[in-house]
Amino acid sequence: MKIAILSRGSKLYSTRRLVEAGELRGHEMHVIDTLQCYIDIAATKPAIWYKGEKLEGFDAVIPRIGSSITNYGTAVIRQFEMMGVYCLTESIPLGRSRDKLRSLQLLSRKGIGMPNTGFAHHVDNTKDLIKLVGGAPLVVKLLQGTQGRGVVLAETQKAAESVIDAFRELEADFLVQEFIKEAGGSDVRCFVIGNRVVAAMERTAQKGEFRSNLHRGGSASLTKLTPTERKTAIAAAQTMGLRVSGVDILRSERGPLVMEVNSSPGLEGIETSTGKDVAGKIIEYIEANAKPESSTKRGS
Ligand code: ADP
Ligand code: GLU
Repeated sequence: MKIAILSRGSKLYSTRRLVEAGELRGHEMHVIDTLQCYIDIAATKPAIWYKGEKLEGFDAVIPRIGSSITNYGTAVIRQFEMMGVYCLTESIPLGRSRDKLRSLQLLSRKGIGMPNTGFAHHVDNTKDLIKLVGGAPLVVKLLQGTQGRGVVLAETQKAAESVIDAFRELEADFLVQEFIKEAGGSDVRCFVIGNRVVAAMERTAQKGEFRSNLHRGGSASLTKLTPTERKTAIAAAQTMGLRVSGVDILRSERGPLVMEVNSSPGLEGIETSTGKDVAGKIIEYIEANAKPESSTKRGS
């Protein structure tokens, strides 16, 4: 097969591993810099150009779109969809996953467990918002944050009020969430491909920190999922419409609670901590599923 990886750099671990896994199975792998693609909108036949050449003959596209280029990346994927090319991550699920409010609304509608959460932008009634999620301690998250930046634990009512007041001044969207203390500074990343969890790791925060992000000094280790955790991760991925995703779960007294569903989950942490060939499993999934007729051709 001729497979394109939309990625900003061929040296990135995940991109390198996908190229390696694809070539090992005899596929022709092309790394394409998303931002270097230009789109022919006006012609009757949709096309994408790259460095002076038309991108043609691809059987599948693996989008690895960073959150800073979501908008343009989504347009490029949409164009491939309009051309009838199978996109592992489709434009609509990608857009969904990058909008935290929209994602949590969808997941809650499907009855998937999540921490009690309130969304706000410019509330005057701070106390009422705090009450809504059950009072302090609570977590306040700035919506444009990633890798744990803009995630604050407010341990007392007073602290919560001042964090919310400060965020309000930023004129930014934020969410207020019940603090899951019993998670003990750990969360679980479930790597879902199709309707299977192919690997899972537990990430644990360093001492004195509640955020378990690897970028925040957290450490990762292999973990065994309960059947409920497995079911929850798959249901969350399917609700989002993602064929490949990283579902982040907090282990709480009332069962697994989904924090977020990542549409470009990194491979390095999960492959290193579990020893599994996740890149190979992604390629195998494409081999089994990428048929021209499986493309949505929606481009909507
Ligand atoms: P980001 O998307 O920036 O990584 P997250 O929402 O995933 O931010 O939060 C970062 C980390 O903080 C999580 O991995 C988890 O360890 C911890 N955390 C987030 N929300 C909660 C919560 N409601 N209760 C307990 N810990 C949380
Ligand atoms: N983008 C990374 C991932 O999805 C973030 C990992 C982290 O911050 O821990 O795996």
